[in-house]
Amino acid sequence: MPPTLVCIALLALSVVMMPASALAQVSLASARYPAAGGTITTTSEILQGRLDEIARRSSLWRDALGPLQGTDRRVVVVTPDQVLVKDTPDAVSAETFAPTVIAAVSPLPDIDSEVRTVVVVVNLALLERVHRSRDSNVAELYWDLDRILVHEIYGHALPYLLAGDLSGRCADPEPGQDASDACSIRRENAVREELRLGRRTGYGLESLFLARLR
Ligand SMILES: [Zn+2]
Repeated sequence: MPPTLVCIALLALSVVMMPASALAQVSLASARYPAAGGTITTTSEILQGRLDEIARRSSLWRDALGPLQGTDRRVVVVTPDQVLVKDTPDAVSAETFAPTVIAAVSPLPDIDSEVRTVVVVVNLALLERVHRSRDSNVAELYWDLDRILVHEIYGHALPYLLAGDLSGRCADPEPGQDASDACSIRRENAVREELRLGRRTGYGLESLFLARLR
């Protein structure tokens, strides 16, 4: 099945981190308190490399992170093998991340409704597989990763952390709405401009490089 969505907001869902394993050492406990690694943490070397590059090139990104430095607020960037997803917070069973979804974002409000942790899931394996099947090069893969990280983190996750609660929701386009008017896409496009990653005008896959390779 081809990838169908760039981004799903897991607002109605609950993301629980997998027990720590060799690959998944990010846990909610460690994510919630100040730790080495800064506001945005990941155990993926590839994703860390892209995050460093985005931070180096985007002043908007750095400016948004400034007020969060030294706080206990975190964006935890994970891959699907590091999370389980529940339909509702009280659901008994948790499912693995949907294999055809490219990325998702989920704020994790505390019992006091404060949002100190936002989980961003990036389906790196799916993206790599699609790019490989289309013989794109590593730069093209990185451009798409950067676009996805900018959308999920700058578009969605940082507004939650800066607000400190769910009022920071920055929405994706509503049905019928011009995509470039939506909060998340406006923020994404501002950083894309700094990174010269093109302007996003739709809400599907068309603005990703992989869409041109079919
Ligand atoms: Zn989105």
